[in-house]
Amino acid sequence: MVSACLVGEECKYNGGDNFCAELTEFLQNHEAIPVCPETAGGLSTPRSPCEIVNGIVMNADGENTDLAFRRGAEKCVRQAKEQEVDLAILQSRSPSCGVNQIYDGTFSGRLIKDSGVFASLLRENGVPVVDIEDLLRQIR
Ligand code: SF4
Repeated sequence: MVSACLVGEECKYNGGDNFCAELTEFLQNHEAIPVCPETAGGLSTPRSPCEIVNGIVMNADGENTDLAFRRGAEKCVRQAKEQEVDLAILQSRSPSCGVNQIYDGTFSGRLIKDSGVFASLLRENGVPVVDIEDLLRQIR
């Protein structure tokens, strides 16, 4: 399973992607399922950026987007389990997909050691996760 924005889907909050050519090459020898938990949860693209504020996902306009994030994460984790995914390769620092770090909830660009909603739920369900930056270091 892979964050859909990493393989070129324009599902980022700003309508862009995080296409990674090295990852695409690496995935040629693997079966990959692209998912975006935020759009799976019903959020539109583009959308206001979100951060986890005291455990609740909020957008930069002060709206609570927690339910959509959790609903989308649950849907994608269900898919991962049904399809017996053995690894999820996830985009760095996202409030959904971040594995090692996320923004601290103040919308000021500061990072903290924590994981996004989707990455945490995958782990809780026994699906191994890897941050794309760590994977690239391993395969280079
Ligand atoms: S939720 Fe994950 S897959 Fe979707 S745009 Fe954000 S980082 Fe990419």
